[in-house]
Amino acid sequence: MRYGPNLLDEILRRTDIVQLVGRKVKLARRGQAFWGCCPFHKEKSPSFKVENARRTYKCFGCGKGGDAFKWLMETEGLSFPESVERLAGEAGVELPKWSPEDEAREEKKKSLYEVIEAAAAFYESQLRTNREAQAYLQSRGLDAGAAARFRLGFAPRGNALIEHLKTKNITTDDMIEAGLARSGDQGLRDFFYDRVMFPITDLRGRVVAFGGRGLSPDAKPKYINTGETDFFAKGRLLYNLAEARKAAIKAGTIIVAEGYMDVIALVGAGFEHAVAPLGTALTEDQLQLLWRVAPEPIMAFDGDDAGLKAAHRAARLALPALKPGHSLRFAFLPAGEDPDSLLRGQGTSAMRRILDAAEPLARVLWRAETEGRDFSTPERRAGLERALSDIVSLIADGKIADYYRREFDQLVFDAFKRRKPAAPRQYGRVGSRERRPATLAEPVSAAVKTSLLARGGARKLKEAELARLLLAAPSLALDHGETLAALSFSEPSLDRLRQELLNLAASGHRLEKDGVRNHLERSGLGGVLERYSGEVPDEDVEGCFLGAATQLREMTERAPERSKAMERFKSDPNEQTWADASRLLARGSKD
Ligand SMILES: [Zn+2]
Repeated sequence: MRYGPNLLDEILRRTDIVQLVGRKVKLARRGQAFWGCCPFHKEKSPSFKVENARRTYKCFGCGKGGDAFKWLMETEGLSFPESVERLAGEAGVELPKWSPEDEAREEKKKSLYEVIEAAAAFYESQLRTNREAQAYLQSRGLDAGAAARFRLGFAPRGNALIEHLKTKNITTDDMIEAGLARSGDQGLRDFFYDRVMFPITDLRGRVVAFGGRGLSPDAKPKYINTGETDFFAKGRLLYNLAEARKAAIKAGTIIVAEGYMDVIALVGAGFEHAVAPLGTALTEDQLQLLWRVAPEPIMAFDGDDAGLKAAHRAARLALPALKPGHSLRFAFLPAGEDPDSLLRGQGTSAMRRILDAAEPLARVLWRAETEGRDFSTPERRAGLERALSDIVSLIADGKIADYYRREFDQLVFDAFKRRKPAAPRQYGRVGSRERRPATLAEPVSAAVKTSLLARGGARKLKEAELARLLLAAPSLALDHGETLAALSFSEPSLDRLRQELLNLAASGHRLEKDGVRNHLERSGLGGVLERYSGEVPDEDVEGCFLGAATQLREMTERAPERSKAMERFKSDPNEQTWADASRLLARGSKD
């Protein structure tokens, strides 16, 4: 960590957060604080509060909130160090000087950036005079405007770049270190030649590397990239990200296409929030970069088998990293199309329709496990259930894992309930190719039924939420004793907690937090204390408590009704009993 807490505090203290937020949100004073309409969710009356006294912003509608650094990260897509630098600059706080070695390394880097910039400018100038490269770009539908915007270039043969950089007194060591030249048996050679050049920029928009596409049809490989250097790790950048960030925050999403030409075509058609990985499958670092600017990036894949495989890889990669509110969506192009060909053939609105129909991650995983497969034997269905539960086990976040388990249960249930195969369920796939639906002909397997009947996830989550609130504010048991007494927790240790608190309240204790914790510890509830002492919203704990209590009561009341409906379906599986059971199931999972 380069910045100590004192320095960060100092920056926050000198930052007028009302003024900072006020640049983007219209704020009006009410009491000590300023209020406006939340920029993170749609609303008509203001529930978004900014306070200089606390140096925070907070939305009571969607829960977004934080300090000035977080504000810049969330609204401009800056990284934490970038937002520190920005605010330090505005607040006139000097950031610490680095060691002399750091300084020297930074100087060296700076000079290499200049070398790469000189190369980019050279390639650009070469494109202006090279007919063949121009013709290639024209054949791909790119005009001079697009070429200028993306600083496209051309790398000629004959070590032209090396000769050019020599005239600028750039050393061969620097050329090699910048990834522009390599030394081999025949001496120093240009790394790129006879290729159309795509400059790759870092998050600040500085060119740090190149992708090159071979001009001759038999160029091998078709695309090459600068090798890894000190300042270019291809797994940690995305093509066009510096430019796409702002548009992505405005659009609320970001499109991840497969290649450079796709990005250029999308941007040209008005989808300015388009990026692409740099010639490899998406990495976890790239996923984090994407989530910094949009909660649900849309992965756009070509509608062929390679595209589908790539989508499944990306879907699995995302699982361990999923966080509440962060996921992926998947848009599949029709067979044989890429964004470039689709936009040219069918126009912007066709592309927009496909993006709007992007499928949630859970559905893509489900399709990957089921499409074109036969589940006509119990063993195969058991295999599917195993595969789905393996997927869920990859999810690190417990709450999300629970939702996925429920979603898969529902899909399995839905699919296996049919005695006769009915029309395949379509998840908004836009595409012309027919896929064979999974054959799910037999009634529900016993395992599925049991897992459906045993589901109590939503209820457990609600109980945990109530326990956290009670531990954070035990006086709730005093103020709302009757509400608490009317509840029952299915988790025995939590129900003991509930009863202990009620006892304390009844015996006239003040229910002050530390005293209560000591008491609970002595009563053998140390484990509960440890598990459920977490963060709770710092505003309106009472409201949260009452809301959660009402929801838990409704769930408890519905439970017998639900299991009766499931029993009816189990003994007589038909459309009517299914409809009753699934209506109650759906209600349970909305909580
Ligand atoms: Zn909000």
